[in-house]
Amino acid sequence: MIGCLRSSHSGYDGRGAATMRQFLRLLTLFGAPAIALLWLLPSVSAAERTHQPRARQACPLQEPQQFLIRSSFVKHGVMDEAAHERALRYRAERYGNVAGFGLERFNKNRAYANAVMLRFFGLPLEIHKKVAPALRCVERYIHRTCSGPEERYTPRAVGGLRQNNTYRGGEVSNHLFGIAVDIDPNRNPCCGCVSPWSSHPACRNVKATAFQRTALPRCWINGFERFGFYWLGRDPELQDTMHFEFLGDPERLAP
Ligand SMILES: [Zn+2]
Repeated sequence: MIGCLRSSHSGYDGRGAATMRQFLRLLTLFGAPAIALLWLLPSVSAAERTHQPRARQACPLQEPQQFLIRSSFVKHGVMDEAAHERALRYRAERYGNVAGFGLERFNKNRAYANAVMLRFFGLPLEIHKKVAPALRCVERYIHRTCSGPEERYTPRAVGGLRQNNTYRGGEVSNHLFGIAVDIDPNRNPCCGCVSPWSSHPACRNVKATAFQRTALPRCWINGFERFGFYWLGRDPELQDTMHFEFLGDPERLAP
C-alpha cells in the first residue's frame, strides 16, 4: 500500500438543526403550503448554498473528462488544433507548464516542480502531487478487489513523470505533466507507437484486441478507470496498453 486513506465522513455539523429551525419558521409563517414547497424542492448541500465548489473526497468515483481524451482531439492521425489547445490549457492550468510548448502563458509554474516520489505496488514512482491521491485509491482498490487467480498481477517496472516528449506532431505526452503511469512496457505493448514499442510480438496478431494483447488483468484496468484514469489501450490508433493517465478532475480529490 502507498498510504492510508482519509475518511470521507465529515461528521455532524449542525446542519440538521439549522434545517429544522428553518422548517419551523416557514411552517409558522406560511403553514401547509410551505411544507409542500419544501417537499418539492431538491435538497441543496451546504456547499451549494454558499456557492462553494463540491467538497473534496478521499476516493471520488469519476470518469475521464471527455475533452481530455486523446481521441477527442486526434482523429485518424489528424489533430483538431482548437480542441488540442483546450486540453493543453486545462492541463497547464491545473498541473503546471512544460517547457517548449508556450504553456507559460497559462501557468508560470513548471509541472515537474510539483512532482512527488511515492511507491506504487512497492516500486518507486515519480508523479504530480495532485494525482498521487488518485493513485493511492487505485492501489487500495486493486489490493482489495483483484485477488482472483486471473486477476493477480505483479508490476516489475513502472514509469511516471518524464521530461522528454515521446509524441511527434505537436502532441504533448501526459508524462510531461506527471499525470501518466506506464506499467511494464515489455508485457503491455503499444502497437500504434513508434518502434521498438510496435515491434512487440503481441502486435503481430492484428485481429487481437488491446485487452487480449495486454498482460494486465481487466480488474486492474477497471481499478484505474473508476478513479478517473483513462487507459490508452482504448485509443483506437495507439492501443498503448501499458499507459494510464489521470483525466478526472484533480480538484475533487482530498490531498
Ligand atoms: Zn505512457
